[in-house]
Amino acid sequence: MASAPAEKITESVTAEDQREQTDGFNLIIDALKLNGVKTIYGVPGIPITDFGRMAQAEGIRVIAFRHEQHAGNAAAIAGYLTKNPGICLTVSAPGFLNGLTALANATTNCFPMILISGSSEREIVDLQQGDYEEMDQLAIAKPLCKAAFRILHAEDIGIGVARAIRAAVSGRPGGVYLDLPAKLFGQVMDAAEGKDSLVKVIDPAPAQQPAPEAVERALKLLQSAERPLIILGKGAAYSQADDAIRTLIEKTGIPFLPMSMAKGILPDTHAQCAGAARSLVLKESDVVMLIGARLNWLLSQGKGKPWGGKKQFIQIDIEPREMDSNVEIAAPVVGDIGSCVSALLEGIDADSHSPSKDWVDAVKAKKDANVAKMAPRLANDNFPMDFHGALGALRTVIKERPDAILVNEGANTLDLARGIIDMYHPRKRLDVGTWGVMGIGMGFAVAAAIETGKPVLAIEGDSAFGFSGMEIETICRYELPVCIVVFNNGGIYRGTDVNERNSDPAWTTFVAESRYDKMMEAFGGVGVHATTPEELKQAVDSAMDSGKPTLVNAAINPAAGSESGRIGNLNPQSKLQKK
Ligand code: ADP
Ligand code: MG
Repeated sequence: MASAPAEKITESVTAEDQREQTDGFNLIIDALKLNGVKTIYGVPGIPITDFGRMAQAEGIRVIAFRHEQHAGNAAAIAGYLTKNPGICLTVSAPGFLNGLTALANATTNCFPMILISGSSEREIVDLQQGDYEEMDQLAIAKPLCKAAFRILHAEDIGIGVARAIRAAVSGRPGGVYLDLPAKLFGQVMDAAEGKDSLVKVIDPAPAQQPAPEAVERALKLLQSAERPLIILGKGAAYSQADDAIRTLIEKTGIPFLPMSMAKGILPDTHAQCAGAARSLVLKESDVVMLIGARLNWLLSQGKGKPWGGKKQFIQIDIEPREMDSNVEIAAPVVGDIGSCVSALLEGIDADSHSPSKDWVDAVKAKKDANVAKMAPRLANDNFPMDFHGALGALRTVIKERPDAILVNEGANTLDLARGIIDMYHPRKRLDVGTWGVMGIGMGFAVAAAIETGKPVLAIEGDSAFGFSGMEIETICRYELPVCIVVFNNGGIYRGTDVNERNSDPAWTTFVAESRYDKMMEAFGGVGVHATTPEELKQAVDSAMDSGKPTLVNAAINPAAGSESGRIGNLNPQSKLQKK
């Protein structure tokens, strides 16, 4: 606490003046600490530099990044992993805008985070009189996040922080913006009154019980199914209702399909996992139960060819307005996943809610066939390496280290790794999420290491890595147990495109045969150049054993890789293109 130095208090000051004082800096720190905030991710600068220093002195971990977007992504994934809002701290205007990308992405993904930005003085901003980094940040943030607040007076800090926390984690989680004008930090008030004004948020994300009729309707529909399917989304992973979900699936024997970040709630190697029979189960199922997964583009909006016609859906979600957003939901179950799944379990009886034997057999046959087809490709020893050979090696790494956290982004590197690398534990796979956005890699890796203390393996396309690559300095500075593997095929999708018009490179290519491993060495980390699956596995194993920040440059055949990975259908191509 800041208090007036004793020697300055003369006999002439009144008792009133002698009372201990506090200020905005201290009150914000106290409010965050009171609510269990242990880590802040950010980038220093005006007007928050001293705030970061003071927070660090007060025992909060303050992790400084090189760019706000990555600090924001770190905060977002910290929120996802812990169910407490991740905190990102930025300077005004440009720093705020950099962080805003991560805030919007967090909101889209239903990750709870709070972006706290310093801002210029209201009086000048509102009259547009030209302040340092002048910008009406609150107005800009509002449409891009779940809620946005500004605190103007020190006595409102307690309530302001409490509102931000509640807004981030209650109901459907999301991103919250908290605007702190520079003047607020220095505002002074009586320390006892200040302490009294702070709010400890009780039960920030209250359980939301589903209506008994909704549960009954869902059970009845499930009972009528011949070929039921359960789809687990990242909302299910977020809810941490792992035991209840596993019991529901195992008690009924229904095949389940995990969305990307839901992999590992039950192991991908589980007998009921239908990951390797995805096309079949989407097309042939008759009743589909969605648990914390939205029918967005990642599930073809719940209709059309991949679904082979109209389905009956049961949807479990905390957000009532999610129901019927794309197709009719026959049995909406609104509530938090833990409460909903537990309520369903009470009414489940293994005999009447189990799938037909034909269905279970059909799924298994398809799965076995696909797994057998893939096996030789994963064991290939092609030189130069291809995606499958390299991913085959990393698949074994995760199999041997199921506790490690996998961060994954890219195009081919993402799509293929998602299918190939089995996950064994919940919330171990962190990737590009709902937007399929590039640039989450290093921010996610930093926060995953800090929040969990587990080793992190980040599998990155060379293009994807470029968006956050400078944060390897952050990883080295904090000595985090992060091993980055750059799948280096020298370009976006491929490294072989040619511009036939002039000497400029094709705009999808990078410098051929780059050595990303040398970048890591520049900051004191370990750099390895790997050209075979065996070298790759060895390098990653040794990084995971040592816990030393490592970057492995995996030299992938520049001709390997397909346009836009698995989502080429979303990338329009001209038939009139001139060479
Ligand atoms: P995926 O991309 O894995 O399919 P989505 O992000 O599309 O997953 O869907 C996650 C869903 O989970 C969102 O609709 C969100 O409202 C919901 N959700 C998040 N947390 C909870 C929770 N604790 N209880 C219920 N639903 C939740
Ligand atoms: Mg590439």
